[in-house]
Amino acid sequence: MRTAFMAGNWKMNKTPSEAVAFAKELVEALKGANAKALVAPTFVALPGVAEVVKGSNVLLGAQNMASVESGAHTGEVSADMLLDIGVQYVILGHSERRAIYGETDSLINTKVKFAIEKGLLPILCVGETLEEREAGKLEEVILTQVKEGLKGVSEADLAKVTIAYEPVWAIGTGKTATPDDADAVHKYIRKVIADLYSGSAADAIIIQYGGSVKPDNVKELMAMENIDGALVGGASLKTDSFKSIVFFDK
Ligand code: PEP
Repeated sequence: MRTAFMAGNWKMNKTPSEAVAFAKELVEALKGANAKALVAPTFVALPGVAEVVKGSNVLLGAQNMASVESGAHTGEVSADMLLDIGVQYVILGHSERRAIYGETDSLINTKVKFAIEKGLLPILCVGETLEEREAGKLEEVILTQVKEGLKGVSEADLAKVTIAYEPVWAIGTGKTATPDDADAVHKYIRKVIADLYSGSAADAIIIQYGGSVKPDNVKELMAMENIDGALVGGASLKTDSFKSIVFFDK
């Protein structure tokens, strides 16, 4: 039985004081949820939001993390810094990190392994562009991103990993993959995990869908066999819409 997991990626939105005020509202609004709920504010908002969510059912994630321990890495934020303020999860390989900041599968894999080693739980994002989908490369892209992203991760450690399938063409565009299309890719990801690890690992892994998830499409997505949650951008920025997503089962 996989527990539903809804994660809000706030991206580069909300100042630290706005983030704290919003987190206070969310902590109240998300009380009693059956689904796991996580918020991922910007780095500078993390300490304030960490104080607000402490002791609540709202989990805390970062949107990225350095691939190395410490030292001369201007502009980077380390795993230890995140752990020190109470961060539990880290989103890695988001398509914006891949496309805008040139993150490669190899760098993302280093971060995934480093996060696990440090005790942070990675949410590994994978997904194809429209061009790749139209060229018939969907499975090839997903296979590469999953296989390379998880290279060297043991089956025991895989239990700490969440995968987020986010078709790039559906992120922030208002276009959602149909529930059937999304489920087919999630099913394929489970097959890849079964081939790389085992059938039981494939059954157990949580696979979120991301790409314009909203209160009015979350139910039909969550009704699909292989969709276990959502990684939400735009609709995670307002209390009512994120609450409706987290309480999709009510
Ligand atoms: C995301 O950024 O991961 C995302 C899915 O964004 P949106 O929900 O806005 O499409």
